[in-house]
Amino acid sequence: MQIPFNKPFIAGRELHYIEQAVKDGNLAGDGPFTKKCTTWMEHHFSANKVLLVHSCTAALEIAAILCDLQPGDEIIVPSYTFVSTVNAFVLRGAKPVFCDIRPDTMNMDESKIEGLITPRTRVIAPVHYAGVACDMDRIMELAAKYNLLVVEDAAQGVCSRYKGQALGTIGNLGCYSFHETKNFISGEGGALVINDRRFIERAEIIREKGTDRSRFFRGQVDKYTWVDIGSSYLASELTAAFLYAQLEEAGKITQKRHEIWQQYHQLLRPLEEAGILRLPVIPADCTHNGHMFYILLESQSVRAALIAHLKIHDIMAVFHYVPLHSSPMGKSLCPEVSRLPVTENLSERLLRLPCYYELTDGDILKIVSEIKSFFKGILKTVIL
Ligand SMILES: *Cc1c(COP(=O)(O)O)cnc(C)c1O
Repeated sequence: MQIPFNKPFIAGRELHYIEQAVKDGNLAGDGPFTKKCTTWMEHHFSANKVLLVHSCTAALEIAAILCDLQPGDEIIVPSYTFVSTVNAFVLRGAKPVFCDIRPDTMNMDESKIEGLITPRTRVIAPVHYAGVACDMDRIMELAAKYNLLVVEDAAQGVCSRYKGQALGTIGNLGCYSFHETKNFISGEGGALVINDRRFIERAEIIREKGTDRSRFFRGQVDKYTWVDIGSSYLASELTAAFLYAQLEEAGKITQKRHEIWQQYHQLLRPLEEAGILRLPVIPADCTHNGHMFYILLESQSVRAALIAHLKIHDIMAVFHYVPLHSSPMGKSLCPEVSRLPVTENLSERLLRLPCYYELTDGDILKIVSEIKSFFKGILKTVIL
């Protein structure tokens, strides 16, 4: 039996709610399930306003439009992230300025941000890697000092907290993902969290193809019309129906992921103590959501050999990201960045282990035992 890297799951009433949406004859966006999802998030995360969209990429694109960037404006982002974090701003004509990451959390290194700020800098876009918070106090302090906007990419950080505050609710805007590889899923899906009230009305318009249709539905205008740029960013009610069932079980899902995370951590501790690999670090200010379990290996070649070993034993482990500053697009947009030493080093050594809701204790024991047997083989070769 193969252990996949990720597996979509049903946590509760997903199929029942989808059936209900179909029977009610309401499949397009902004129906009752969309309302339930946004109200749930606004309540649980103490967020001013949440808009459901079809992906975190969509949420980032709306956020980038709201930042009202002019060509040549700069945004500070990590290079170690998914393309959407940067693409959303590049679509607005902005220039990415890549920031190196911290060796402990793989998050944007807050001590290196100030040195990257120029008169053209407009936005800092921190990414909460693995659902572990960036140093938001420092980032918000810099944003206030230089009058910058903060857009949190909290795609992986739904239900994580920093000093008690939900990730995504700290910057001016926050973005969530409900892609099937994330903690709470709806196939594709996402949300924009609007913390800065100045942006609420315009965000609704951008999300509705640049029309004031939301105002029309609330009876605030008697017909709706084209008032701004925008696109089709709504999530369908089928998506929202599935997602609402997942949100209802958010506590159960997060607890299960924590158990998986703890178990990996405990079982792999002896290998860390023996200096064979390094485990994730969670700073004291962060309550994480068990989104990801990764290990850091000695080198790229050890990683490749371990992936191959696990694959032979039907265990799928994967790595990401190719640092964006070293990608063809990154190089053409930001040619002057030549080296980000921590990003380059760690991105070659990080390996993600299977982590999903239905992963069993037996699966984890098997994965850890195969990792141990791989290193026994290696250690023997070294000794011989
Ligand atoms: C998954 C992810 C995204 C994209 O989310 P989608 O919902 O697939 O658009 C963006 N940023 C990060 C950091 C992610 O992990």
